[in-house]
Amino acid sequence: MSTPARKPAKNEPSTSNFIRQIVEADLASNKHAKIRTRFPPEPNGYLHFGHAKSICLNFGLAQAYGGACNLRFDDTNPEKEEQEYVDSIIDTVQWLGFHWGSNLHFASDYFDFMYKAAEYLVTSGHAYVDSQSAEEMRASRGTLTSGGGDSQYRSRTPEENLRLLREMRDGKHPDGSHVLRAKIDMASPNINMRDPTIYRIKRATHHRTADKWCIYPMYAYAHPIEDAVEKVTHSLCTLEFEDQRPFYDWLLERLAEGGLLERPLPQQIEFARLNLTYVLLSKRKLIQLVEEGHVDGWDDPRMPTLAGARRRGYTPEGFRRFAERIGVSKAHQMIDFSILEDCMREHLNEIAPRRMAVLDPVKLVIENYPEGRQELMDVPNHPQKPDWGRRQVPFSRELWIEREDFQDPPSKGYFRLFPGNNVRLRYGYVVKCTGYDKATDAVRCTYYEDSKSGTPGADKYKVKGNVHWVSVKHAHAAEVRLYDRLFKIEHPEGIEDLNPESKKVTTAQLEPALKDTLPEERLQFERHGYFVYDQSGFGRTVTLRDSWAK
Ligand code: ATP
Ligand code: MG
Repeated sequence: MSTPARKPAKNEPSTSNFIRQIVEADLASNKHAKIRTRFPPEPNGYLHFGHAKSICLNFGLAQAYGGACNLRFDDTNPEKEEQEYVDSIIDTVQWLGFHWGSNLHFASDYFDFMYKAAEYLVTSGHAYVDSQSAEEMRASRGTLTSGGGDSQYRSRTPEENLRLLREMRDGKHPDGSHVLRAKIDMASPNINMRDPTIYRIKRATHHRTADKWCIYPMYAYAHPIEDAVEKVTHSLCTLEFEDQRPFYDWLLERLAEGGLLERPLPQQIEFARLNLTYVLLSKRKLIQLVEEGHVDGWDDPRMPTLAGARRRGYTPEGFRRFAERIGVSKAHQMIDFSILEDCMREHLNEIAPRRMAVLDPVKLVIENYPEGRQELMDVPNHPQKPDWGRRQVPFSRELWIEREDFQDPPSKGYFRLFPGNNVRLRYGYVVKCTGYDKATDAVRCTYYEDSKSGTPGADKYKVKGNVHWVSVKHAHAAEVRLYDRLFKIEHPEGIEDLNPESKKVTTAQLEPALKDTLPEERLQFERHGYFVYDQSGFGRTVTLRDSWAK
């Protein structure tokens, strides 16, 4: 707790936002000597692109102001939570580049404290056991426009409530027979303040506490306590929780009054959740995609999950840039998917070596190039990074080129291979197309011996087309998966909007240097985009340009 408050360093993003302003004011006024945020996933699913925003925001803020960020599993609901999700979340947050040190917590570790707090609320007259049926409770809750009515059990004495609460805890009552409610105001205009339920009876085995408890705290009760126990200073959540804030504050005030919590208490701050075009981020809909087999699991490279993104070749740095670029605000925002793709492209452009790969191969035979001869072409690994060096790519009489790089007759404005036209074979010679031989399915051409790239006079050949190639004799074949957006419309609603073209598998011909690719290595295939390797082949992360732009 002794790290002094500080201003963000010079190299940190200057983009201010309303949350940074609150943090800076709290540090300036010495409300907090050090800030603490938290990322609080419920371990009931895989993390998605929306979570990346929250992770970058919480961990990023702690980093920028010399504070700490906790990773806390909000595991208070025993029914849907699993260790598998805990493991995957840990893995993913680390992959994004964030560290929590010793600040890994489970909300279920506070069950004892939460229960003790509940007894305190009961004895101090701030909570009561309600024994209405679920229908009665619903009916007496009122509506958005009219207040609710008091339960007949609201006037139970603290002693009676304490006895009942203990019996609930001890398993003396069946599921659903009673609940514990905060005693606030049934006439409040805010429905969340109308005596919200804070504990329910539920016989369910919890992934960490097993069968120790048959009562479980409700989210609205558990979450503020988790924050306060961990001494979180700024509790960032999405806008849907705005109406919960009065209860958040009410609860923590009561517990602080009672000496159960220390001040300063955490402050809840809401921001707009991430919404992306061409994507669905609802857990329920993502589960449907997996369960009905529309995708190959949670980590399918087309899924908007972070596990999927990793297999797709998206980079942690790309996500951090994206989070910074979209910023945070209170206004609902719909972010164009191309912004995320641009962030990935920009980063991949900086880190991906260039290679040549022919995805839809047809042969090109150079009629006047001697059989058996071969040359090594000198090719840069990255056009803007001379220090990445060059490699020698073998060239010979028969090459693989893209089928679409030949047309006969050529369409209007087509300047690649067609009979009579000159094009440059990248880093190699200029060739003149002489035709296409149907029998051998090969495009034919002749080359100009004095046109070799990088040799004196080679640039006297003025050509519009520049075509990549791979020497047939030296090429190796590999599976290449071409991914595209999973949904075909901007605002998808469900599986009916899936893009049937979101995955195409081809057998490509690759230059020799690609033989040594390592798993998760990222490369640019010239003219095709950025690709990532796994044992079974290459997958396209993103094209070089936005092909969806209108
Ligand atoms: P559920 O469907 O269960 O509500 P959830 O997506 O809210 O799921 P949580 O595990 O509760 O999942 O979320 C963990 C954190 O991530 C929360 O703080 C939540 O506010 C934040 N979060 C979730 N979705 C988004 C989103 N689309 N944009 C920004 N933050 C998000
Ligand atoms: Mg949630």
